[in-house]
Amino acid sequence: MYDLLVVGSANADLVIGVERRPAAGETVLGSDLAVHPGGKGGNQAVAAARLGARTALLARVGDDAHGRLLLDSQREAGVDTAGVLVGGAPTGVALITVDPSGDNSIVVSPGANGRLTPGDARGAAALFRAAQVVSTQLEIPLETVVEVVRNLLPHNRFVLNPSPPRALPQEVLAACDPLIVNEHEARVLLGAAPGIEPEEWAAALLALGPRSVVVTLGAAGSLVADADGMTRVPSVRVAAVDTTGAGDAFTAALAWRLGLGESLAVAAGYASRVGAAAVTKAGAQESYPTAAEVEALR
Ligand code: ADP
Repeated sequence: MYDLLVVGSANADLVIGVERRPAAGETVLGSDLAVHPGGKGGNQAVAAARLGARTALLARVGDDAHGRLLLDSQREAGVDTAGVLVGGAPTGVALITVDPSGDNSIVVSPGANGRLTPGDARGAAALFRAAQVVSTQLEIPLETVVEVVRNLLPHNRFVLNPSPPRALPQEVLAACDPLIVNEHEARVLLGAAPGIEPEEWAAALLALGPRSVVVTLGAAGSLVADADGMTRVPSVRVAAVDTTGAGDAFTAALAWRLGLGESLAVAAGYASRVGAAAVTKAGAQESYPTAAEVEALR
């Protein structure tokens, strides 16, 4: 049995610090290369497993050194990787240059993530049967996300963070419980003039058809909304060091706690503390807390 099945991307993040990001035709020398496990799917799975959730990942990596690195980091966190498919294309990578002000330039090669097919989702029926909650994002082909929705079983609760954001088919929207977005994702999904208050975005997003909506608001916490109403859920005050991957940690924690039977507001309160803990440390997966570290953040 799994508390959470994450269907999504796994990337190797290749990071070089530079004095100045290069212009066209220019070469600059940078720091030593740092390789970090990333990708929204991989991040979510590690975040959930580190909290103690029984977690499985359905993803695709290449038959290469980056793929092995990603599998190792998943297993180390306690993720069941039986559903991680290997081969078909090189492991997805993100080439990241960061300047001293923290501004970055990123090129992503989706690689094997782009080869996670609808057939792969159909082939994972045993994982769907064993899982309580199924969570996905948009760093894999949209047609695969559609197939995930079509393969949901009556006991599966479906959670979607539409990142990177794009227009979604009605059948995907209707399955979301909740649809989890930050401000940028809300604006893309809603198109023009969604208003200025998160309550207005949440109302407009609910009108698109999901059963519930969560808008994440960084240090301000989140807003949860469903047919019964809307609630602001504050986060805890922390000294933020690096917000990379906070949204993925929040989403994973929320999905897990919803599967345990918590209400949207209670689960979002817990997820806020997980997101807050994640921003107190550098990196994404490296920054994710254990349950004991979350308890200490009161
Ligand atoms: P994303 O990374 O997708 O933009 P957010 O930045 O909104 O997502 O972060 C997700 C959640 O993590 C927030 O809803 C909040 O609960 C928590 N969080 C993020 N940044 C902070 C912060 N600086 N202080 C406290 N909590 C934070």
